[in-house]
Amino acid sequence: MEFFVDPSRCIGCQACAQACAECDSHRGISMIHLDFVDRSSSPQTTPTVCMHCDDPTCARVCPADAIKQTAEGVVQSALKPRCVGCSNCVLACPFGVPRYIPALDQMMKCDMCYDRTSAGLKPMCATVCPSGALYYGSRETIVQMRREQPTNTFVFGRRVVTTKVSLMVSANTSALEVDIASFLPSPEDPSAGNNPQQVAA
Ligand code: SF4
Ligand code: SF4
Repeated sequence: MEFFVDPSRCIGCQACAQACAECDSHRGISMIHLDFVDRSSSPQTTPTVCMHCDDPTCARVCPADAIKQTAEGVVQSALKPRCVGCSNCVLACPFGVPRYIPALDQMMKCDMCYDRTSAGLKPMCATVCPSGALYYGSRETIVQMRREQPTNTFVFGRRVVTTKVSLMVSANTSALEVDIASFLPSPEDPSAGNNPQQVAA
């Protein structure tokens, strides 16, 4: 079983965030975030979960060694006794996932519902998502069901990041190239914000 995210199917219903917050281990705080793709021109939202990088930058930059990766490749939230609340992980994650929670003085993030997935259950968000934007199941099934295909390779400049979670992208796309600079407004076009480039297979 694998986790697949298809932002194009998100309808912004917030069911995933509500279900995530109900999990006892999160103490009422949702670990999934909904972001607007371009709020000035579209109501389209996209769910943000931890991509569970094979070589997690968040853990590499943590000075307290508070972020652990399981043998299955799931990257956990910061361990409370170790986390010093420095937010290094928040700044370093290429996908904008970790959040520092001031009330807890601790970083928390999506751990792919490790208590559930390690017991063969789906993550809470994938259980309630009505549109299939969040899908937990076999790769063969989703490839047969959808026109898009999964990729787990992301290119940030010279850095290539591979992840346990896959994103559904256009067919014949081998990797998603994310040019952060292209999302920043320019003097010529203050509303600039290009979509990530899809690298042909
Ligand atoms: S997506 Fe961010 S928070 Fe998740 S493992 Fe990768 S670097 Fe860490
Ligand atoms: S439950 Fe699914 S459709 Fe609803 S907001 Fe979350 S990802 Fe989008």
